[in-house]
Amino acid sequence: MPKPGELTFVAPRGAKKPPRHLADLTPAERKEAVAAIGEKPFRAKQLSQHYFARYAHEPEQWTDIPAGSRARLQEALLPELMTVVRHLSTDQGTTRKTLWRLFDGTLVESVLMRYPDRVTMCISSQAGCGMNCPFCATGQAGLDRNLSTAEIVHQIVDGMRALRDGEVPGGTSQAGGSGGGPARLSNIVFMGMGEPLANYNRVVGAIRRLTDPEPDGLGLSQRGITVSTVGLVPAIHRFADEGFKCRLAISLHAPDDELRDTLVPVNTRWKVREVLDAGFEYAAKSGRRLSIEYALIRDINDQAWRGDRLGRLLKGKPVHVNLIPLNPTPGSKWTASRPEDEKAFVEAIAAHGVPVTIRDTRGQEIDGACGQLAASER
Ligand code: SF4
Repeated sequence: MPKPGELTFVAPRGAKKPPRHLADLTPAERKEAVAAIGEKPFRAKQLSQHYFARYAHEPEQWTDIPAGSRARLQEALLPELMTVVRHLSTDQGTTRKTLWRLFDGTLVESVLMRYPDRVTMCISSQAGCGMNCPFCATGQAGLDRNLSTAEIVHQIVDGMRALRDGEVPGGTSQAGGSGGGPARLSNIVFMGMGEPLANYNRVVGAIRRLTDPEPDGLGLSQRGITVSTVGLVPAIHRFADEGFKCRLAISLHAPDDELRDTLVPVNTRWKVREVLDAGFEYAAKSGRRLSIEYALIRDINDQAWRGDRLGRLLKGKPVHVNLIPLNPTPGSKWTASRPEDEKAFVEAIAAHGVPVTIRDTRGQEIDGACGQLAASER
């Protein structure tokens, strides 16, 4: 029986399971897995140290583990999960998108964005997406499968390694700074391919691995993590009870059910009012402001009266509206709003005292919208 919030209507195509990996397991399960292959349980801690604290997943780097045990431990707990198909960089190298090939040939993407004062990584939680939003490249291709916890976590482990090794420039106070040397990851957003709350257990497992202290996990702050959802109401309620301090972002894209039913088809199941109420409940329990994501699409959802309606819905609530100029997908009829319409939309929201900003759209020249790189590779 699925638990409340576990969705059954997005069953992945294809049944092959990714190999089990250290990052799929709790610290206690790692010890059991190590013991099951005849190794001393403390090797689990050593492996965790190598993976989560040193980003060292090659056996020759594990000099504190006898050479005779390394291959066995690697096979049992650190199999190769994914390989880089290619990196694409823009913004003087400060934005780097990675296309990954998973063990079964599935493609997913992650993006690292280095700013002068912070580094944000946008990761995928599913290969493809079953939510079918008509303006989105990922939605057009459908869902391949859920990613495992380790496949989610590894995108970040590799990003942290790349930052440590100085592979992503930036970090100076000059615009688009070059140089900058090594850096630490400050923010993670689940805004790449997929609907995170449709892969609930693995995403929650990934948040635990990301935020457990080293060496059990990566030791990152829950406050630096944003989970973005189209509004799967039972899963939002369940997420609110996890006790996380992560930020929740709701991809609203329309303040009225009539339009939202067409832009975000899951709205036919859970309406705007229900979705917002679930989001406000999460904000109350987590103590974090709710983010409202709204892709501005020319002549579709960018009328000032819709901005006014959105402002009315959100007035006095602990929210922040992020407007996203749409990054058109090739061959799509959907395109970004005119500057004057964008301005009028912002003013209509702000007139209700609701904080609103227009999101920086990094990486557009490298197919920066979620799923575009994988879609072009297919
Ligand atoms: S916009 Fe997000 S939820 Fe909608 S289809 Fe694309 S990836 Fe899925």
